[in-house]
Amino acid sequence: YCGMVAIVGRPNVGKSTLLNRLLGQKISITSRKPQTTRHRIMGIHTEGPHQIVFIDTPGLHIEEKRAINRLMNRAAASSLADVSMVIFVVDGLAWTADDEMVLSKLRRGDQDRKIVLAINKVDGIKDKEKLFPHLEELAAKYDFDEILPISAKTGTNVARILELARESL
Ligand code: GDP
Ligand code: MG
Repeated sequence: YCGMVAIVGRPNVGKSTLLNRLLGQKISITSRKPQTTRHRIMGIHTEGPHQIVFIDTPGLHIEEKRAINRLMNRAAASSLADVSMVIFVVDGLAWTADDEMVLSKLRRGDQDRKIVLAINKVDGIKDKEKLFPHLEELAAKYDFDEILPISAKTGTNVARILELARESL
């Protein structure tokens, strides 16, 4: 069993950190500075008979006003074509226009793949009332296959993501 899974989201939500966590080693680049990763970064997770290629997909949030942006955007979007699952990562404390932009890109094309909403950075959220106040509205608007509070930093629910990824193959 093998296949590809994409990690998408605006800059700074924790995509690279999640990729590192999923692979159990430091191969992606994480930084406080947004857009440190300008290119796709892939890594293979192997477990028993399953091999999953995880793709860190930056650039889906980019405005398409300039030709160069359209190109970068197309490169990002085309990497979604062959995946069996998309992990849409958001920051548990913030929802922005860039998140909206990324989400709009996910809805294009075929609907065969799973979409998981991963609400990241829950380790830093003490007050559960503050956890992603946007969620109810979002869940009503979009039919996510699963909604998971996660922490790429501490590993909360990352095993569940792997399980869903295996099931999607
Ligand atoms: P990317 O731009 O989406 O690839 O985000 P990065 O993985 O580079 O992470 C951006 C920042 O958020 C870095 O400072 C990370 O250490 C931090 N970060 C990522 N995941 C978590 C998390 O689960 N919890 C907390 N508290 N910080 C995180
Ligand atoms: Mg990154």
